[in-house]
Amino acid sequence: MAQRSNNNDNKNNRKKVITINLSWVFYLLLIGGLAYAMFSHGSSSNPEKVEWQDVTEMAGRGDIESITFVRNDFKGEIKIKADRLSRYKDLYPGGVVPKRSPQLYFLVSGKFDPEMQFETLNSSLPEDAKVKVIMVNRENIWSDLLQWVLPLLILVLFWAWMFRGMNRNVPGGGGIGNPFNAGKSTGKLADKNEVKVTFKDVAGLYGAKDEVMEIVDFLKNPGKYTALGGKIPKGALLVGPPGTGKTLLAKAVAGEANVPFFSISGSDFVEMFVGVGASRVRDLFRQAKEKAPCIVFIDEIDAVGRARAKNGGFTSNDERENTLNQLLTEMDGFGTNSGVIVLAATNRSDILDGALMRAGRFDRQIHVELPELKEREEIFQVHVKGLRLSEDFDIKFMAKHTPGFSGADIANVCNEAALTAARNNRPAVTQQDFLDAVDRIVGGLERKESTIMTPAEKKNTAYHEAGHALVGWLLPYADPVFKVSIIPRGNALGLTWYVPEERKNWTRSNMMDRMCALLGGRVAEELTSGEPSTGALNDLERLTGMAYAMVQYYGMSDKVGALSFYDSSGARGYNLTKPYSEKTAELMDAEVKKLVDNIHERTKKIIEGHRDAFEQLGALLLEKEVIFAEDLERILGPKVKPDGEATDE
Ligand code: ATP
Repeated sequence: MAQRSNNNDNKNNRKKVITINLSWVFYLLLIGGLAYAMFSHGSSSNPEKVEWQDVTEMAGRGDIESITFVRNDFKGEIKIKADRLSRYKDLYPGGVVPKRSPQLYFLVSGKFDPEMQFETLNSSLPEDAKVKVIMVNRENIWSDLLQWVLPLLILVLFWAWMFRGMNRNVPGGGGIGNPFNAGKSTGKLADKNEVKVTFKDVAGLYGAKDEVMEIVDFLKNPGKYTALGGKIPKGALLVGPPGTGKTLLAKAVAGEANVPFFSISGSDFVEMFVGVGASRVRDLFRQAKEKAPCIVFIDEIDAVGRARAKNGGFTSNDERENTLNQLLTEMDGFGTNSGVIVLAATNRSDILDGALMRAGRFDRQIHVELPELKEREEIFQVHVKGLRLSEDFDIKFMAKHTPGFSGADIANVCNEAALTAARNNRPAVTQQDFLDAVDRIVGGLERKESTIMTPAEKKNTAYHEAGHALVGWLLPYADPVFKVSIIPRGNALGLTWYVPEERKNWTRSNMMDRMCALLGGRVAEELTSGEPSTGALNDLERLTGMAYAMVQYYGMSDKVGALSFYDSSGARGYNLTKPYSEKTAELMDAEVKKLVDNIHERTKKIIEGHRDAFEQLGALLLEKEVIFAEDLERILGPKVKPDGEATDE
């Protein structure tokens, strides 16, 4: 297995090397050509150097036919008479005097006055030995050219190097090392035979699956729909929290429809150079149209599809907006029946631009939610398929104890469990491995070192967690406690695990019960040690968030009334003015304070009313470090349920 992946790596590397070489060969040739042209100039005839003194002697012997004096180089080039060449063979390394002139040259200083010197020379010579003198000014175009080409070349090379650095970070790395590919789409194309994912690999997600199955049918039998005059949708938007299987679902559509699958992330369009994003969008759609029927999948579309700023200024981002405009134009541009269907995924459909969401572009929104109990069980089934499981593994129990987990989390739990089992040299993965994996994902790694907590801190933590557990157990709408631990994990000194109820609608009293359970730890500390500690930070943060949400968003405060200042579009984040007056702000603060005070009072009453049980719980935790629902039931009786099977007050 490892060997195979190495081979693949090698192949990929080899591919990369070829791409890089091709682009760099161009630069090397250019530099080589220029250098050759420059340095080869003047060396073709290989003249040898002599001194002015030698020249006068040669002229005296009547050997020189002509001298070309290059004024701007202070250089004289000597042409020797053909019948006198042999006299100078000793000057040449091979003893062969070149036939082509100049055979010799001399250099003079700036003080040399050529006119006068040559005149003096010729005047002293007999008529048949007189030297023909040609005065010239010679421009070396290559060195001049290089003077401005070289800086330009350096700039181009620097530019290319920068692109290489950037593209290396882009998944799919379109145009690695080649600046001329910047505007090319960095999308990855998986051919129809490469997409092996089918609906069988996507567990749960019943509603979403039904909706995307329709898309598969559009791609497979477009005629069925167009015959009646219907138009095939251009795009669908998959909306849901991270890791819920949106990408998987899009791949499954391509796999089932047996069509090519282009995938690109929204952030791949965003580049620091102006116009690159828009050009990549154009390129992506051009490629897609060539491959139709096909699916284009844009992951994290919010990176480009964010609502455009209404009032420019410092909030506007021109490059992103240009990219979005291009995307809108492209989606308008291709015909409904061209066989290209655009699927996009986002975690935040609320911040997307309205124009993107209108019918005719992303006609459909498919919600992919966190899996429910039954769906989690099915996702477990998909991911434990490859594992060797021990007899005690109970899939239903695991599904029940992973509320709020996404498909990706469950996949992670299964993998972590298998790794833990392997680390402990177990022949099969046990239920405990799975539970440990869940704990690890929820709370971080267990830290067993005794040095982390002093005995006093440990006692404080035990009573803090006992407070959470007791209040949570006694209030009907607080989530049932499943496990309490005072073994430090991650940043937390202790943890209480709940099995949250999977409901979507919460009443005021439901929320109040949950907030009491949250505050249980802090109140317990106050009752035992007499003063609060910093250990309740996370609880207080969540409590404050919930309290403000009740007052500002859900309209649950009588004094503020049924007002909601929730900003679902996210656009108000840029706005510096609040949509309410200072007076309302003060009223809301006062209402939040009153609410939290009430909750504090109520929580205190509950713990004080069950002081013995509370002390027992704290002591048990100190002794065992981990206690379970059974221990709580033994001490407090059955968990108080919403329908009032037992009452606390
Ligand atoms: P993000 O929004 O973060 O991009 P996503 O919703 O696109 O996440 P995926 O990338 O599709 O999530 O899922 C990640 C992994 O989680 C998948 O590769 C798969 O292993 C697992 N997974 C998620 N949902 C499911 C599911 N319904 N059935 C089986 N596996 C799933």
